[in-house]
Amino acid sequence: MINSSIYIKSQQEVFDVVIVGSGAGGGMAAHTLAKAGAKVCILEAGQPFDPADPKDMTQLKWPYESLRRGASSSLRNFGDFDAAYGGWDIEGEPYTRKEGTKFDWFRSRMVGGRTNHWGRISLRFGPDDFKRKSIDGLGDDWPIGYDDMKPYYDKVDKMIGVFGTNEGLRNDPDGYFLPPPKPRLHELMIKKANKALGIPTYPSRMSMLTKPINSERGSCFYCGQCNRGCSAYADFSSSSVLVKPAVQTGNTTLLPFAMAREVMTDPITGLATGVSYVHTGTMQEYSVKGKIVVLAASAGETARLLLNSKSSRFPNGIANSSGVVGKYINDSTGASRSAIIPSLFDRKRYNEDGVGGMHIYTPWWLDNKKLDFPRGYHIEYGGGMGMPNYGFGWGIEGLNGKENFSRDGIKKAAGGYGATLKEDYRRFYGAYVGFAGRGEPVPREDNYCEIDPNVVDKFGIPVLRFNYKWSDYEVKQAKHMQDTFEEIIHSMGGEALGKKPGAENNYGLADPGRIIHEVGTARMGNDKNTSVLNSNCQAHDVKNLFVADAAPFVSQGDKNATWTILALSLRTSEYIVDQRKKGNL
Ligand SMILES: Cc1cc2nc3c(=O)[nH]c(=O)nc-3n(C[C@H](O)[C@H](O)[C@H](O)COP(=O)(O)OP(=O)(O)OC[C@H]3O[C@@H](n4cnc5c(N)ncnc54)[C@H](O)[C@@H]3O)c2cc1C
Ligand code: SF4
Repeated sequence: MINSSIYIKSQQEVFDVVIVGSGAGGGMAAHTLAKAGAKVCILEAGQPFDPADPKDMTQLKWPYESLRRGASSSLRNFGDFDAAYGGWDIEGEPYTRKEGTKFDWFRSRMVGGRTNHWGRISLRFGPDDFKRKSIDGLGDDWPIGYDDMKPYYDKVDKMIGVFGTNEGLRNDPDGYFLPPPKPRLHELMIKKANKALGIPTYPSRMSMLTKPINSERGSCFYCGQCNRGCSAYADFSSSSVLVKPAVQTGNTTLLPFAMAREVMTDPITGLATGVSYVHTGTMQEYSVKGKIVVLAASAGETARLLLNSKSSRFPNGIANSSGVVGKYINDSTGASRSAIIPSLFDRKRYNEDGVGGMHIYTPWWLDNKKLDFPRGYHIEYGGGMGMPNYGFGWGIEGLNGKENFSRDGIKKAAGGYGATLKEDYRRFYGAYVGFAGRGEPVPREDNYCEIDPNVVDKFGIPVLRFNYKWSDYEVKQAKHMQDTFEEIIHSMGGEALGKKPGAENNYGLADPGRIIHEVGTARMGNDKNTSVLNSNCQAHDVKNLFVADAAPFVSQGDKNATWTILALSLRTSEYIVDQRKKGNL
């Protein structure tokens, strides 16, 4: 139920659980708790969103239907049809950076958060990812291991649906996979090139339904547009797969447009009593009471909420007696390169759309003990002959006019117009490939976010200030990515595009935050002096306060974070259900 009557100054109803945020973590918490019978209230800063609702739907729209012909805007950073309300910069909601440091923060303001338009690359962490310090002495171990998480990954696989294959890889564990789609032509070529180089290539692992798993969701019809949101609900978005069923239980009150300000506490017991928030439309201040509070506003926002929840009992912010809140923030590393493959020029036309993303990937395959950087990365591949979208084929002037790309030995002029330009588009379309490395950084105490003492947002809430720098470890890892991409490109007989990134620009290493996998701002641990949460993601200092997004992560893994957010949120939520039954909460 989306309940507007509940926007009253101070709610008398006391919910069993108040959850802040409805993305991957909040959606899973609401789903699990509401299905177990708890009365749940979700506070969500953004607006409602349903990819099957004609007013939100952009799937299958033609490029000419975009008023701006696809151009991105501040609310649609990835193009006009991308299912995002939010972006790197949101009007009236700034964040700042300490001088000389970098961090870009992507936030979605909509029910389902960033899962409405994420890449849906759905990778479990492996046993090593929880025990990095034991392996290389850097960072810290998690207080839990893969065996603790495995049952929850298994449940998430079955509940949400993910395709892939069981390969028996030690640190990229098997799961419950739906059949993967077949590789496209350029993916077969990458696979062949990789084989010659000893680089493994496997079917990708992504959360689109290649087979139906229940009557609420359809299966994929391979339109290749998952970033627009799927009107058949065949891809995973928290909004349609978790929040909607949670609301349908009758146990969940969903409050969109509710920007949480702080966690309220009882001055005597120190327990959380609810959350205060600002209605983003009316700018009025409200509060909602709960016996338990679960923060899942995304790793950055959760740190901000904790730090802003100050009282005489919690002068440094709630759950922050360790002073660790905000510290150890870390994002995946990322570097990329693209290439053109002459043997794919003048390809025969056929439908190669597939799912909205890659059909193959390469998990980390080397031994870091033999390398000059401590952590690994995986490779994501792009390219192929998908349905042309708005803005396709930009930069053709960089391809036509090149000596070795000429037809019949006749070099054409760059640029062009009319029939000759059309001929060039036909020749080059479908011959492009892209490579993106996504890797694990070493989390550091001196990479942190904190409250900026001088800046508030348009709601009057103090904002975050980031302080983040990469170390040599990450730069060396990016160099390795670039060398690997070139090896693959050469092995495919391709030509890399643009100048190879070098030391002068950190080998193309993306600025912190750019890969949108920020984690670790309220890390778990067994020692309350060096961590914020215990092994159940329960605040050491406040027993009825939990965190269910990526803030509890002790390290990033060489995988993308979301499948672990979902599994960890499920584990935390089941713990809450159990503790409620036992009367401990
Ligand atoms: C383009 C893109 C591609 C991506 N691709 C992948 C991928 O392939 N694989 C992968 O694993 N990950 C990917 N990610 C990352 C993934 O989207 C995030 O890891 C995931 O969504 C995080 O879940 P969350 O619940 O922590 O936060 P979010 O999904 O960001 O949800 C947080 C929610 O909380 C709300 N909120 C924030 N502050 C407040 C407040 N104060 N009060 C109330 N509500 C609040 C927000 O509006 C939002 O709805 C991608 C992200 C993007 C943007
Ligand atoms: S590719 Fe499949 S899952 Fe993705 S939007 Fe299209 S039909 Fe839906």
